[in-house]
Amino acid sequence: MADGTDHQRLQHPHGSGWARYCPRCAHGLEDRRVDVEQRLRKVCPACGFIFYMNPKVVAAAVPRQGSDIWLLRRNIEPAHGLWTFPGGYVDLGETVPAAAVREAREETRLDIRLDGLLGIYSYPESAVVMVVYRATVVGGEPSPTPESLEVRRFGPDDIPWERLAFPSTRDALEDYLGIEAAPRGARKTPVGKE
Ligand SMILES: [Zn+2]
Repeated sequence: MADGTDHQRLQHPHGSGWARYCPRCAHGLEDRRVDVEQRLRKVCPACGFIFYMNPKVVAAAVPRQGSDIWLLRRNIEPAHGLWTFPGGYVDLGETVPAAAVREAREETRLDIRLDGLLGIYSYPESAVVMVVYRATVVGGEPSPTPESLEVRRFGPDDIPWERLAFPSTRDALEDYLGIEAAPRGARKTPVGKE
C-alpha cells in the first residue's frame, strides 16, 4: 500500500492493503467479496484462506494508591513522551486480567490487584480494543523501565490532561474520576480540561 500517511494514523496498520501474501501458503492475496456480509476481504486464491482484519486486545489498568493514581510516560511509539496508565497486548494463552497485571509490572514495577472493570474503549480509527480495569497498588517499587521514561503518582487534580497519550487514556481517566465529558467521538485529539 502506497499511502504511508494512513498507516501512521493507526496504532498499527490494518487497512485493506496491508496484507499481501497468504500466511498459510505464501501465494499472493486478492481482494474478494466473501461470506454473508459481502465485505471486501483479502483472500488467497490458491488455498482459500481469508485474511480477516480484526482489532487486537489491549489490557490496561489504572493503579490507585490512596486517592492518587500512577501514570507512566511512554518510552515507545506511538505517543512517545506522553502519559498513560500501564497496558499492553494480551498474549495468546494469557487471560486479559493476567495481562493487565503483567503489563503494570513491566511498565511501572508496581504490583497491582484488579478491582473490577472500568470500561472498554474502541474507536473507528484505532486498531485496538482497550479493556481497562480499576486496580490497587499492593507492592513493588515504582521506577522507569525500558518502556517508560518516568513513573509518577498524580492526585485527581494534577492529571496531565494536556499531555495524555491516547483518546482512550483520556476517556478512561474521565470515567475513573467520574468526570462528565463531551459526547464520545466529538473530540479528535486530547484537549484541555473543560
Ligand atoms: Zn494460501
